[in-house]
Amino acid sequence: MTTTASDVSQALLGVYARVGPVFTAGEGAELIAEDGTRYLDFVAGIAVNALGYDSAVIRSAITQALESGLIHTSNLYRTAPGEQLAEELVARSFADRVFFCNSGAEANEAAFKFARRWSRKTGIVAFSGSFHGRLFASLAATDRPDYRKPFEPLVPGVEIIPLGDRAAAARAIDAERTAAVIIEPLQGEGGVRPVRADWLAFLRDLCDERHVALIFDEVQCGLGRTGTLFAYEQAGVTPDMLTLAKPLAGGLPMGAVLVNEAIAMSLKPGDHATTFGGGPLVASVALAVLRTIVEPDFLAGVQAKGDLLGRLLAALVARRSRVREVRGRGLMWGIELAEPAGPFVGAARDRHLLVVSAGPNVLRLVPPLIISEAELERGVGILDEVLA
Ligand code: PLP
Repeated sequence: MTTTASDVSQALLGVYARVGPVFTAGEGAELIAEDGTRYLDFVAGIAVNALGYDSAVIRSAITQALESGLIHTSNLYRTAPGEQLAEELVARSFADRVFFCNSGAEANEAAFKFARRWSRKTGIVAFSGSFHGRLFASLAATDRPDYRKPFEPLVPGVEIIPLGDRAAAARAIDAERTAAVIIEPLQGEGGVRPVRADWLAFLRDLCDERHVALIFDEVQCGLGRTGTLFAYEQAGVTPDMLTLAKPLAGGLPMGAVLVNEAIAMSLKPGDHATTFGGGPLVASVALAVLRTIVEPDFLAGVQAKGDLLGRLLAALVARRSRVREVRGRGLMWGIELAEPAGPFVGAARDRHLLVVSAGPNVLRLVPPLIISEAELERGVGILDEVLA
C-alpha cells in the first residue's frame, strides 16, 4: 500500500515531502508498514539506525536508564552516563574533551563557536559538495544553493571553495581571518564522495601553519559506518574537532563535538550550552551503541559487508548502462546515475526496498550496520531490477 504526499496529515508543517506507507514497527534491517508489508531498509533513518530496529542492545539500555528514574537533570548537575560516554569517546579518539548537544547541525554550530574562541578569528571555509546542516552558520557552510537562497543573509564570513583545489584553499584559508575549515571525510548528502587522504593532509598542514581549526564533520560517516570507528582513522589525518550525531544514541537525538586540549582550554563556563545535551537517558543509550560498535568483530563485520556491497555494486555498473559510477566505503555507498535518481527511489519502494537519494542523480545506500550479507544481496538484486 502506498500513500501519496496529499494523504499526509495536514497538521504537519509541509517542509518534508513524505510519501509511501505508514510504518508501525521495525525488526533488524526491515521496516514494517501498517498492513504488515516488510521493507528492506537501506536508509536506516538516514544513517541513524546503525543497530537496526528492535535492537536488544538499545532496548536494554533504555529500560535500564528508565529504571533510575532519570531522563533529564540539566547540565547544572553531574550525571554518570554523560561523563562515562565522554571518557570512552576520548579514549578512542584524538580528542581530550567532548561537548554534547542534540543534532548534527548543532554540533557544527558549536564547533564554529569553539573555533572562533580559540583562534580569535571569525572566518569559516567549507567545500563544494558539502552538507553541514540547516541552521544559520551550518547552512552557510553547506553547498546547496536551493537550501540557502530563500534564507539569506546567512552567517557572513563563510566561504565555500572547490574541493581539491589547492590554490583556492591556499588563498581562502587565511592566517588573519580564518577560524575554521570544515570538511566531511566522506561527503554524504553531496553525492557520497570519498575525500582523498592527501587532500585532508594538505588541509591539516595549511591549518597548522595558519592557526586555523580543522573540523571533520563525521555526522554521517562516523561511528563505524565506513568500517572504522571514525572515518578519519583511514586517512591518517587528525582534526582539531570532530562532530558526530546521527547514530550516536541509536535513534534518540544526540550530537557531540570532540575537541582537542588546546581548543578546550580556550572555553570557559557560559561560552556555550544547551538544555538537553548529554542527558542521562540519551547518554546511556549512546554508551551502549558505542560499546557495541567498537567491538572488533562488529567493525570487522562492517568491513566485510562493505567489501561485499562494493563488489555487488561494481557488478551493477557493468550490467546497467544508466549507472555511471558507484563509490563509497564500508556501508556508505552512492550509485551515480546518468539521470535523476528520484524515480528509482520510488520504484525501489514499490518493490519493498528503501533507498534515498543524495543530490539529484545519486542513489544512496546507508543500511543498518547489523544488516546481513544475504540482505545486502537481496537489496542489490532489487536495485538491479529497478535499474534495468
Ligand atoms: N553534517 C552531515 C555530514 C550530515 O549528513 C547532516 C545531516 O544529514 C548534518 C550535518 C546535519 O545533521 P542534523 O540533521 O542532525 O542537524
